[in-house]
Amino acid sequence: MESHGSKQDRACGRSTKDEGDDCGNQGRRNQSDPHAVEGTEHDPRIRRFGGLPVRRLAGMLVLTMVGACTAGFSPSPTSPTVPSTTTTIVPSTTTTTMPSTTTTTDPGPPLGLITPAGIPVAVRLVLPEGYLVWTPCGEIARVSGGEPLWQTPVVLDPGHGGNRDIGAQGRNGLPEKVLNLQVAMAAKAHLEARGIPAVLTRVDDYATTLRTRSQLADLLQASALISIHHNAPTPGPSATPGTEIFYQSRSEESRRLGGVLYEHVFEALSKFDQVQWSAAPDAGVITVLSSRGTDAYGMVRIPETPAVLLEFGYISNPAEAELFATEEYVEVAALSIADAMEAYLYTDAPGTGWYEPGRVFDPAPGLTQAACVEVPLE
Ligand SMILES: [Zn+2]
Repeated sequence: MESHGSKQDRACGRSTKDEGDDCGNQGRRNQSDPHAVEGTEHDPRIRRFGGLPVRRLAGMLVLTMVGACTAGFSPSPTSPTVPSTTTTIVPSTTTTTMPSTTTTTDPGPPLGLITPAGIPVAVRLVLPEGYLVWTPCGEIARVSGGEPLWQTPVVLDPGHGGNRDIGAQGRNGLPEKVLNLQVAMAAKAHLEARGIPAVLTRVDDYATTLRTRSQLADLLQASALISIHHNAPTPGPSATPGTEIFYQSRSEESRRLGGVLYEHVFEALSKFDQVQWSAAPDAGVITVLSSRGTDAYGMVRIPETPAVLLEFGYISNPAEAELFATEEYVEVAALSIADAMEAYLYTDAPGTGWYEPGRVFDPAPGLTQAACVEVPLE
């Protein structure tokens, strides 16, 4: 499934939804799976240093030293997890992994760019004057300049966008694609206020392909990619939020990312206890596999970055759509993402909410065949 929003919503006849369905298998909830904790410690891709994974630390140090990243990442000098060059507790013989003044050299070519029109794109090639970049629709284009991006810990993907992929819509007229963007923009602001750079895969109502969204996170060497959605169609009523998070079946980091996100999102939304929520019987942190055994949804299957698809709740449920239309909800939802990412990046929090064995589902062939319309880059 390459086209975001190409799956037909069989229950209500729309053709815009790519993220949720009610085809889940029943399973048993696992609130405290010790395997998840073990998995994060044994992930061969990440070595830990001073409480912070080296892969993340390395990128953060580059950003700190470059000082040119538009995301403005600057870890607190008092942070116990970020080593400084003046530390005296580490023997000099082991300082090969420590930052030194020799690493303040050229950070290399930018990995991404905020174009003059404000569009985040991945850089394919740096030219003598300008850049070749991947456009939102996956083409190659030349731009004259922009604000360069290097390694970025968090990439937020506001699901859907443009006329090609409108997503779900509340009965109150609230479009999912608009709500997703509002939450993503607010979450980015909260993250950056905490010194955690974040980039959005789209910053307005325009089309961008699943592959482009994924590629941006991969090329920016992100530690987490969160695709933000609000679900449809409505399942049965529930006393608690029906938050669903789909994680990568072959990634322990994605599994932990999902668990940490779920813990914060579910707790945050539960404060709205006057809302008549809706939830599927297997709501939680789950895998959704096609009958071929691969992750069914593109935003989970395509990225190499640890990625999850987050369905906060059901915009198709009028009671929830009413809540989602409030500024208070957007703020609470955004804060829950920021809190979760802080925990995911800086601690070994295992998370919670996994529901196994997950779903098996084959997305229907796309019905939305409209061309991807490029947004001006400058
Ligand atoms: Zn969606």
